[in-house]
Amino acid sequence: MAGITPTLSVPERRRFLSPPEESRGALRAACTLAALALLVTGCRPSTPAIHTFSTIHMDTVVEVTLVDADTTRARTLADEVFAIFAQVEAEMSRYQRSSAVSTLNDRAGQAAWTPISPGLEAVLRESLRIAELSNGAFDPTLAEVNRLWAFDEGGRLPEPAALAAAVSHADWRRLQVDSGRARLTGAGCGLDLGGIAKGYAVDSGADLLVSRGVTGAIVNAGGDMRLIGHRPDGDPWHIGVQHPRDPDGLLEVIRATDCAVVSSGDYERYFIVDRVRYHHIIDPHSGLPAAGCQGVTVVAERAMTADGLATAAFVLGPEAGLDLLRRAGARDALIVDAGGTVHRLAEAAAGATTSGDKATP
Ligand code: ADP
Ligand code: MG
Repeated sequence: MAGITPTLSVPERRRFLSPPEESRGALRAACTLAALALLVTGCRPSTPAIHTFSTIHMDTVVEVTLVDADTTRARTLADEVFAIFAQVEAEMSRYQRSSAVSTLNDRAGQAAWTPISPGLEAVLRESLRIAELSNGAFDPTLAEVNRLWAFDEGGRLPEPAALAAAVSHADWRRLQVDSGRARLTGAGCGLDLGGIAKGYAVDSGADLLVSRGVTGAIVNAGGDMRLIGHRPDGDPWHIGVQHPRDPDGLLEVIRATDCAVVSSGDYERYFIVDRVRYHHIIDPHSGLPAAGCQGVTVVAERAMTADGLATAAFVLGPEAGLDLLRRAGARDALIVDAGGTVHRLAEAAAGATTSGDKATP
């Protein structure tokens, strides 16, 4: 469409949260030390090193960071995590014609139930829980609305009548989930799990690593992370929260272990028309990009929960968003409102293993 500046950010920029320079420095230092040890002794060092592997899944950079003395074992584990992402994408993407989500969407409005796997059932049930808790700010049935905005193709302004029709068809209460099966009760209603499925994939990858006895790791899908155990020096992981309007600046460094840290922001997928930023987190009530926030970071036990909650809080704005996060039992949260003011979950300290330090951008 004419007048649209193609400013869609590249996948790498989707890393709202990323291991800070410090970790990268540690990684470089660990590699150098490992190389030196090999030179001096001629054999493999037994000290655990940090290994990082990355690939693209779900249109996002997926990065697995592992503390392990054995490079080959680390690569095998990372490949197992990547295979999980491929599997989740094949089942839950609305873009893949053969996915279970596409089958459900094709049958929307029909009485027939579609069989679903335990994984998809878990994602749908958590979607409905967060939709209810957030009074519909999180809505997993926005497929038609999102198709009109076409952020996956760079984005375009939808035609108002088509958007109004799509908004009227979307409603999370039209998604019914039963044991091992699901259905959508309204024609024109379609599942889009883009606000939660990545978190589920991150959890599945992290759970696999824990079951394999990994004692230190990060699974990061474009800023949706699960942190496992500790760094090789025994410290918790340090996670830099990117400033929504300063790609090189950090809002804060979160130190945490054994939890999920997940972000949603308006700077990840957007286009600008007449100096207005149109981004990919949609207010289901209007069908328009939510206007109350620039970025939300949520710390919780599971990435799937944190993912859904971050999207919901973004739509609700700072006050109602913090209220939701408190009710949902989030461990910690940062919300940057539309004016750039940072709001923090007040009772964050209760039971949390996180601590935040202001970082100089
Ligand atoms: P990201 O995927 O960039 O990390 P989010 O987790 O916030 O960001 O998910 C945004 C995606 O979720 C959108 O691309 C779309 O697929 C879907 N989505 C957009 N608005 C909503 C909403 N209000 N509720 C649920 N899902 C949404
Ligand atoms: Mg989300």
